[in-house]
Amino acid sequence: MTVETSKSRTPKAVLKQVLEPAKPKKILIIGGGYAGFYTAWKLEKLLKKGEAEVTLVDPLPYMTYQPFLPEVAAGSIEARHVVVSHRQHLKKTKLVSGRMTQVTHKSKKATIAIEGDKSITLSYDQIIMTAGAVTRTFPIDGIAEQAIGMKTIEEAVEVRNRLFGNFERAAALPKSSPLRKRLLTLIVVGGGFAGIEAFAELRSTATALLRYYPEISFDEVNFHLIEAMGRIMPEVSEKTAQKVIENLNKRAGYIHLNTQVVSAKDGKVKLSTGEVFESDIIIWTAGVAAAPVAKNCDFPLDARHRILANAKLQIVEGDKVIKNAWTAGDVSAVPDLSGGGVGGYCVPNAQHAVRQAKLLAKNVVASIRGEEIREYKWTTIGAVAGLGIGIGAIKVGKFGMIGFFPWLAHRGYHGLAMPTWERKIRVISGWVWNAVLGRDLVAIEATKTPRLFFETWATKPGK
Ligand SMILES: Cc1cc2nc3c(=O)[nH]c(=O)nc-3n(C[C@H](O)[C@H](O)[C@H](O)COP(=O)(O)OP(=O)(O)OC[C@H]3O[C@@H](n4cnc5c(N)ncnc54)[C@H](O)[C@@H]3O)c2cc1C
Repeated sequence: MTVETSKSRTPKAVLKQVLEPAKPKKILIIGGGYAGFYTAWKLEKLLKKGEAEVTLVDPLPYMTYQPFLPEVAAGSIEARHVVVSHRQHLKKTKLVSGRMTQVTHKSKKATIAIEGDKSITLSYDQIIMTAGAVTRTFPIDGIAEQAIGMKTIEEAVEVRNRLFGNFERAAALPKSSPLRKRLLTLIVVGGGFAGIEAFAELRSTATALLRYYPEISFDEVNFHLIEAMGRIMPEVSEKTAQKVIENLNKRAGYIHLNTQVVSAKDGKVKLSTGEVFESDIIIWTAGVAAAPVAKNCDFPLDARHRILANAKLQIVEGDKVIKNAWTAGDVSAVPDLSGGGVGGYCVPNAQHAVRQAKLLAKNVVASIRGEEIREYKWTTIGAVAGLGIGIGAIKVGKFGMIGFFPWLAHRGYHGLAMPTWERKIRVISGWVWNAVLGRDLVAIEATKTPRLFFETWATKPGK
């Protein structure tokens, strides 16, 4: 990259710059999750007045702190506290509530679908692709109709409401009722971090709920996690993963390793072992895939449909840099220079997304100013997981452990990693109040049909 200094400029060029000051560069960010939100946040701090205009496009008005979703589902954190409002915290960024449907980088134009109206076209000078990932499912009969993911705040809230609602309904049914058994059975598919955390947190909540439901006994509540591989949580050592399985077994949370779901039609979950469990709550956490919308852009993708990048977070085609196009987070394939990645690329997690975003913002500003841009290199320190109140798992280097200390480490790490002080305070104070008052065990399922009461009872004209 050439760096132009005032000395190297001709008097004519200097005069031109004085008479015609450069227009602010238009920076367009697609996706306001971890990577997009942090990029915009950092750009607001780095950019000088008039240097660039930043626009962020996302159909959602908030960034979701996804590692807290299992605790939201479990009722340990209030749902709204784990999302960070774009409007409240991105004060200098122009926000567009819409979904990018196409990017034509050759002409530097992005098409944005606006709900309920015609699409708009945004032009840009620099684009930052941070549309994240979606839950990846397999064509298994019944999964699309019956299962739910654990990737969005809405899914976590629905799981929480359904679990609490199911307990309420089951308590009114006779013990012999097949429906009662179905209502008290929960199934998670996928034994990665997200699946295990959701499973363990929900098991902990279900046990806590029993105190208020004398009609239901501990043995009646069935929790099954199905994992196709021979182990769970690839991020921790086999020994630690085994301890997690033993701990969950003791809490009546059964892990089925080397087992696949072959059908989930009508909620009847058939396993490759021949076992069948009927359930109303089937949580699918068996993988993620780069946001499919990446296919609608004229950027090169790898075999897993991720946008190809170099370590400087520039989008690339082979060795060739595609100018003014950047990417980070789960939608991207960024080389992992630490040597710890999968297939040579950074694994899709928040640890990478946040750090890549911060560097990406610096690199974009440097490129506008004609300065040097840097490569992303970061070595993961470890991982922490919450497995229900008072139990966690930790892996730092070769050290692995499960129990109370890792749980404290999990809460300490994530409490502080939550972006913005306003959100940190809400989450941490919520934990403190829960410790004093107990979990908040109320679910308002009727929010799904908010007009039902009105429609049923409102006086109709002439009646
Ligand atoms: C349950 C769970 C637990 C997790 N726990 C951990 C953990 O403990 N540690 C860790 O490091 N990672 C964890 N992760 C992974 C981590 O949350 C993700 O890796 C991270 O969110 C990726 O950030 P991102 O910005 O790439 O994507 P996201 O945060 O998913 O953001 C993508 C954004 O793009 C928007 N978008 C999508 N399509 C479009 C479009 N067409 N136009 C405009 N906007 C669009 C979305 O609305 C969203 O706001 C967890 C994930 C889950 C689901």
